[in-house]
Amino acid sequence: MVYAYIGLGSNLGDTAENLRVALREVEAFGQVYGKSKLYHSKAWGVTDQPDFCNAVLLLETLLSPQQLLKGLKDLEKRMGREESRRWGPRLIDLDILTYGEEVVKDENLTVPHLHMNERAFVLIPLCDIDLNFRDALMALPAESRAEVTVTDLSW
Ligand code: ATP
Ligand code: MG
Ligand code: MG
Repeated sequence: MVYAYIGLGSNLGDTAENLRVALREVEAFGQVYGKSKLYHSKAWGVTDQPDFCNAVLLLETLLSPQQLLKGLKDLEKRMGREESRRWGPRLIDLDILTYGEEVVKDENLTVPHLHMNERAFVLIPLCDIDLNFRDALMALPAESRAEVTVTDLSW
């Protein structure tokens, strides 16, 4: 059993509902032990697109990193995610942030996630579950932290 953090994002359709659907489906991959609140964030990287809904889950799983990636990618497809430009708009994005203490550097998978420490939309929800990420969060500029706001939506 390993504890993995999963980052979720959506900026097409009913974004919060997309995260709710994804949460129910991720439960097939193990036990969900923690979930952040739902956040509203400005698009990162490619900014001319709708705002995002973001969250993070803590999953206890028996799947290997590659099996988990395949499960998440298949789920994105099943939910109707279509190919778009890099960091473009998407119905659902499911990324492995960490997988226990493991470091993975495969051609198709990098864990810990390559950009997680640059992204307030990852670190702010992560800190709802795990305060060990607080130093990484506070190292980000205040302006980028300000682009992520908590919502009162439930999931
Ligand atoms: P980013 O990974 O910067 O957040 P993205 O989530 O928009 O970008 P995707 O289009 O969802 O990128 O995925 C592109 C590829 O990234 C996937 O096909 C997958 O093989 C690869 N990838 C590498 N590391 C990870 C990871 N930790 N979690 C999910 N996908 C990963
Ligand atoms: Mg992503
Ligand atoms: Mg992704």
